[in-house]
Amino acid sequence: MISETHQRKRSRQRDKVLDAVRSTRTHPGADWVFHEVRKEIPNISLATVYRNLNLLVQSGEINEVLCDGQLRFDANKTDHFHFTCRLCKGIFDIDETRVTEPGFKLPRGYLVENVKMDFYGVCPQCQSKG
Ligand SMILES: [Zn+2]
Ligand SMILES: [Zn+2]
Repeated sequence: MISETHQRKRSRQRDKVLDAVRSTRTHPGADWVFHEVRKEIPNISLATVYRNLNLLVQSGEINEVLCDGQLRFDANKTDHFHFTCRLCKGIFDIDETRVTEPGFKLPRGYLVENVKMDFYGVCPQCQSKG
């Protein structure tokens, strides 16, 4: 049987992991989340952080984003696209909903229910460095 203290500890870990992902719009990876959560829970393990990230994805509280073969996490639940910069590997939110919307009919009658699209290129900061 799982004790009450144990359960409280578990939900605290989960909350801290969620807080860390929500605290940024940079779409952090598990390593970054681990680093942040350790400031509050010094003895937490990377495996626990991974487990909690997976639980949060499964419960729909955060999304996973694949960038350059790496799994990153996103607490922004509104509909948006991602722009990945090939230089700094940053992932930026693009709130451009005009591109295609659910209900939109593609030629030949395909009804769009969901759109998954990613943009790749160079972000404004990296362009100004060039
Ligand atoms: Zn960049
Ligand atoms: Zn995002």
